[in-house]
Amino acid sequence: MEKLRNYIDGQLIAPKASKYIDNYEPATGKVYSLIPDSDETDIELAVQAAERAFPKWAGLSGEARGKIMQKVADGIEARMQEFAEAEAKDNGKPVSLASHVDIPRAVSNFSFFATAIRHFANESHYMEGVGFNYTTRKPIGIVGCISPWNLPLYLFSWKIAPALAAGNCVVAKPSEITPYTAYLLSEVCIEAGMPAGVLNIVHGLGTSAGDAIVKHKKIKAISFTGGTKTGEYIARTAAPMFKKLSLELGGKNPNIIFADCDFDDMLKTTIRSSFANQGQICLCGSRIFIERPIYEKFKEAFVAKISKTNVSFPQDPNAQMGAVVSKPHMEKVLSYVELAKEEGGTILTGGKQIHLPAPHDQGYYLEPTIIEGLAYDCRTNQEEIFGPVVTITPFDTEEEVLMMANSTSYGLSATVWTQHLSRAHRVADRLDAGLVWINDWLVRDLRTAFGGVKASGVGREGGWEALRFFTEPKNIFVKNG
Ligand code: NAD
Repeated sequence: MEKLRNYIDGQLIAPKASKYIDNYEPATGKVYSLIPDSDETDIELAVQAAERAFPKWAGLSGEARGKIMQKVADGIEARMQEFAEAEAKDNGKPVSLASHVDIPRAVSNFSFFATAIRHFANESHYMEGVGFNYTTRKPIGIVGCISPWNLPLYLFSWKIAPALAAGNCVVAKPSEITPYTAYLLSEVCIEAGMPAGVLNIVHGLGTSAGDAIVKHKKIKAISFTGGTKTGEYIARTAAPMFKKLSLELGGKNPNIIFADCDFDDMLKTTIRSSFANQGQICLCGSRIFIERPIYEKFKEAFVAKISKTNVSFPQDPNAQMGAVVSKPHMEKVLSYVELAKEEGGTILTGGKQIHLPAPHDQGYYLEPTIIEGLAYDCRTNQEEIFGPVVTITPFDTEEEVLMMANSTSYGLSATVWTQHLSRAHRVADRLDAGLVWINDWLVRDLRTAFGGVKASGVGREGGWEALRFFTEPKNIFVKNG
């Protein structure tokens, strides 16, 4: 069985304790590779390598660092199909999704920050008759990047790329549930001539390898994407060491549909925003609020389309949905369907596991599920399920829908569907969310601020926000002569 290796100090090496974790293929439910079960010894090696590499990497011009990063982007692009197939095998998502979304975005993340750093300017503030200030922005040093399983390489590279562009050395840990494309990335980095120790990828569990990153005193900043509970733990652990923190956490996003929307466009996009990647995108709209005059029309059309979804194995070119990521996750999602029934919900379609023919008969396939008849404040409508499950709820007024939309502890993203210009802006303005899409979903411009409010996180990624996070400003004042 293939054993993945850590990428430390420019080399692919086994974990020091020679311990491994099983890596499951969601499409078949079988173990297909072994992941290093790294611990604090491996993290220590990575930190030492990063410490040695830092002065030279930080001393390079942004342009020179960008050239190496562009080679990484090109290296992934040259192996696009291999990366897409590996991502689909590891995560359960359709290969078509990985090859159109995940891997192209990982390429863009590297090339975007490879060039963005050339345009990242320092500020100066002139004080009439007094003097002037100039503010330098230097890399922080060694930073930790920890990412989740839902968009594995996409989110891993979204952190690593700005950290490297800004001149930091990185100790990164991908999710132990989907480590494979991060492993392929280490091969690409070696081929691209990334200097040893600049990027170190250490595999393993959150509670051992991840925890060792968070607790290491020489790691000065942590960029984390994952669950809110984990984020809370990281914040608590890192705060006494005064580490810089960027936390991108869970969501329970509202999708608000007014009766005057472009119905066909809304329906097409709502199908995607509900079930893309098996509903396992932090930005998926899992609570759909529909203005009462079109509630029945929407319900009928939505259920008719969704009940015909082709849930299949990732390599099936006609698969519209693949497998969810793991058995425990599948069980968690199914437990929420049971909870929804207990809370008085009606399952309009879906709600069950799907058993495909062999060799996929042990895979983690779920029917896309639509539920109605639930109170906006019940657990099903308040807690993050992170699977192919949405609820639909009618509303009568703008005030009412805003109250329901803003009622959760989360505040990541929201979607508003209306042709009424001023209402679109007014509602967007009053939503508790870091990101709002009007008449669309998941359109991403990498220059924009990305992140959530309330329990959805602290800080923002993207564009200058990410480069500011990964640098330390110093203001220098000069008196007028
Ligand atoms: P998770 O919190 O279980 O794990 C995320 C990462 O943290 C993994 O690499 C894991 O190994 C590591 N980890 C776990 N415990 C740790 C600890 N004690 N110390 C350090 N690291 C630790 O999350 P998940 O199940 O992998 O991902 C799903 C969650 O991620 C969902 O809540 C989803 O909403 C969220 N998410 C958020 C965004 C966003 O941008 N806001 C994007 C994608 C996913």
